[in-house]
Amino acid sequence: MTTPRLEIDLAAIGHNAQFLVTALGAKGIGVTGVTKATLGSPDVARVMVAAGVRRLADSRIENLEAMREAGIRVPLTLLRSPAPRQADAVVACADVVMVSDLDVAMALSEAAARTGRAIGIMVMVELGDLREGVMPADLADVTRRIHRTPLLHLTGIGTNLACQSGVVPEVGQMQELSALAKVVEGKIGRPLEIISGGNSSSLGWALSHGSAERINDLRLGESILLGLDPLTRTPIAGLRTDAFTLVATVIESALKPSRPWGTLGQGAFGAVVPIPARPSGRIVQTILNIGEQDIDPRDVMLPAGITVLGASSDHLVVETPTRLAAGTEVRMRVGYSALLRSMTSPFVAERPVVVPAAPVLATS
Ligand SMILES: *Cc1c(COP(=O)(O)O)cnc(C)c1O
Repeated sequence: MTTPRLEIDLAAIGHNAQFLVTALGAKGIGVTGVTKATLGSPDVARVMVAAGVRRLADSRIENLEAMREAGIRVPLTLLRSPAPRQADAVVACADVVMVSDLDVAMALSEAAARTGRAIGIMVMVELGDLREGVMPADLADVTRRIHRTPLLHLTGIGTNLACQSGVVPEVGQMQELSALAKVVEGKIGRPLEIISGGNSSSLGWALSHGSAERINDLRLGESILLGLDPLTRTPIAGLRTDAFTLVATVIESALKPSRPWGTLGQGAFGAVVPIPARPSGRIVQTILNIGEQDIDPRDVMLPAGITVLGASSDHLVVETPTRLAAGTEVRMRVGYSALLRSMTSPFVAERPVVVPAAPVLATS
């Protein structure tokens, strides 16, 4: 079988989604399944929906379009604000758009007017991670203006933490978001449908606190796909971490000096194990047929005894205990950034290995 390839155990993803839907459901929190790390894979999307995920979200319009074309029917959210020029494409495929800039909201209103179809707006609030979001002091004004704009439906508010600066979602931000929701609802005179408390990094808060405040939605990607808590990259109890296996093939394996010789300048991407830290001597150096284009060499978990030395665009250089015959397949786990690259590299084939015969959980 061709390599590199990514084997995707859909049953593991279904298990994780169902587990989180149940655990969060007990707290009144619904799950929005995030597909962006899988390039909007319709296979993955279908498994999430069968597991009880209410909505799907992706950061790229093209991925939402692919899911629509594949017949996915649940509401779709665009996770990243579009550029104003993309407004027509967004209105055609998304039900809800996360927005943090009024110019973008106005472009969406104009696009909606061209088609006559209203679009849902989720206003993002900045609570300290310093990626997207309006400052809390501006939220009431921004939401009031969106509420009054034709063909924009103010669906809710949300926040995103831990992505840019690693700010940990805690009870304080969730209380603040809940209080802000109340203020907005007072201004517009009706309840908001969605109050979205963040991504997988909010699970620690959600699963350990008795009260969810007003938070009724989390947007979950990494936890469903990899079973990991993004704050610590440790497994979340009850979840499977074996959904994705990357398989690459040995294309060279030889006894070589452990350190380079000649004058040293910059390499293409640099070594994972710094050259001065390598003991001198000879090692078995093996090359696998993947590189920076397909994976993040710092984010793959190879079998015991194999360590990454470095990578260039198309070569992953590893040390192996013994010489491996060319053609040998090597299997590895991927972390989030390696998953993202392997799913988006046109050179990595995707192969779903377990297709559930029936929905994991009946959806109503
Ligand atoms: C990527 C993303 C998510 C999902 O993050 P995970 O850590 O994979 O759960 C949620 N919300 C926004 C806005 C995102 O960009």
